[in-house]
Amino acid sequence: MGCGLFKSKPEHQRTLYQRKTDMSLTPAIFLRACSMPNLEYYTFIKTIGKGTFSEVYLTEYFPIGQKRALKSIKKLPLTSSQLSEEYKVAEMQILRQLDHPNIIKCFEIFEDCDNFYLALEYCEGGNLMKKLKENAIFTEKQAAEVIDQILSGVAYIHRKNLIHRDLKLENVLLQSDEEIDVKIADFGSACVQDLEKGNRGVYGTDYYLAPEVLNGMYNEKSDIWSCGIILCCLVTGLPPYSGKNPKEVRKQIVSNPFQANAQTLPGKSLLLVDFASKLLEINSNDRISAKKALEHPWLLLNREKKFDSSPLPINYNSFSKSKLVQGVLMYIITCLVKSKNLSSLSEAFREIDNNRNGKIEKEELESELRKTHSYRKSQEITEKIFEDYDLNQSNAIEFTEFLMAFADHQQLLSQSLISAAFERFDKDHDGKIFLNDIEKLIGPIDINDEENLIVRNKLGFGKAIDKSEFIELIYKLMC
Ligand code: ATP
Ligand code: MG
Repeated sequence: MGCGLFKSKPEHQRTLYQRKTDMSLTPAIFLRACSMPNLEYYTFIKTIGKGTFSEVYLTEYFPIGQKRALKSIKKLPLTSSQLSEEYKVAEMQILRQLDHPNIIKCFEIFEDCDNFYLALEYCEGGNLMKKLKENAIFTEKQAAEVIDQILSGVAYIHRKNLIHRDLKLENVLLQSDEEIDVKIADFGSACVQDLEKGNRGVYGTDYYLAPEVLNGMYNEKSDIWSCGIILCCLVTGLPPYSGKNPKEVRKQIVSNPFQANAQTLPGKSLLLVDFASKLLEINSNDRISAKKALEHPWLLLNREKKFDSSPLPINYNSFSKSKLVQGVLMYIITCLVKSKNLSSLSEAFREIDNNRNGKIEKEELESELRKTHSYRKSQEITEKIFEDYDLNQSNAIEFTEFLMAFADHQQLLSQSLISAAFERFDKDHDGKIFLNDIEKLIGPIDINDEENLIVRNKLGFGKAIDKSEFIELIYKLMC
């Protein structure tokens, strides 16, 4: 689908647009905890990770034949502060707020008597620790690519006033074995920043703990310290402390914390040493922020501008005004499709997001479009994209909105994926959905909109539709 015509909108459509944005379709609406035990949809393949209270299994989600990592978290040891009525586990509550190419995607959450389950996208490349063991060390270029992506995710988390608190090699996953496509995982220790009093409590894993965490009070900069330790581990292949047990390591962190210099990072470039020393600044007030770190010359030097001269492989989709189609598309992107299938778009998103703040502002999109279009046309297309796809009215295009705008709709709205979306809308699994089921999930369907009217006509007066009628309706609305 091309860019279509960019005539100015007639007045009545502008009002419609206004209404359309009020609905705030966001990925989070699809990630509410579901109390239906969905385990029967998952076939166990093998165990891929074990924590103190959780296990991670490789499974196949058979409705769409997709490999997923299923993390089961034991209910018993969870305290009331870790549990909440709607989202049940804090990890889920936090994950549902995040929409970024370098943060693990959660497809669904459900529970049985003993456990909560998080169905996560499966990262075939495993974690960074495994990769480091295979590689022995990372070259500076490889390490820069990894840290660049981790810091993009961390800057995004920090802007949302969250702290991860357990950044370590094992909690950073690689989407595939072939390329560096990093996902920050394990938000089990994450918390909201206490901007007034600072945060307390020791979470995380010893090697990566910032000194101030052990001294009692800290803020988001403790994550930056952990990134510094990750970086030094990657380029040296060595642990940062010689302590033989957690107690010894903690003592070293407080009395003699790891420092980046020519002795601890022998043979490494001066720029790398400078960068690592800024991440590992002992005084957290003077420690560099994620946002500033992303501008450091070591990262800029190593940042491969793959798309510098040629335009990005993006092709804008004309927008369906039907809220149902938008909702189905967003559900498919958020909860069914693996990031790997959209990885060229993830890369494009990162490239266009020049200031690495995890969203695309108008200037950034315009400057990309100017590679292939005139100044005026770029402005026009940008306006149109923002009008159509800035669904939460944030004045920026967030990651999922970007995928909705540029992914191949024909491919995403396949029969099997629409059919899987039907299952989600059909909450009581009786093979039928009513207007009420749809509106409960994605909000009111506006009757003044022509395409929405088709939905209302089909489903009005208590009428229900089955799966094949649903698929037919979506295709009709797309034409
Ligand atoms: P810990 O308490 O040790 O930090 P945890 O119980 O919180 O672990 P995770 O860190 O989420 O669990 O996962 C443990 C391990 O399982 C990871 O280090 C990784 O190797 C594997 N793993 C987790 N999620 C995925 C995933 N989505 N894809 C591939 N592997 C995964
Ligand atoms: Mg972990």
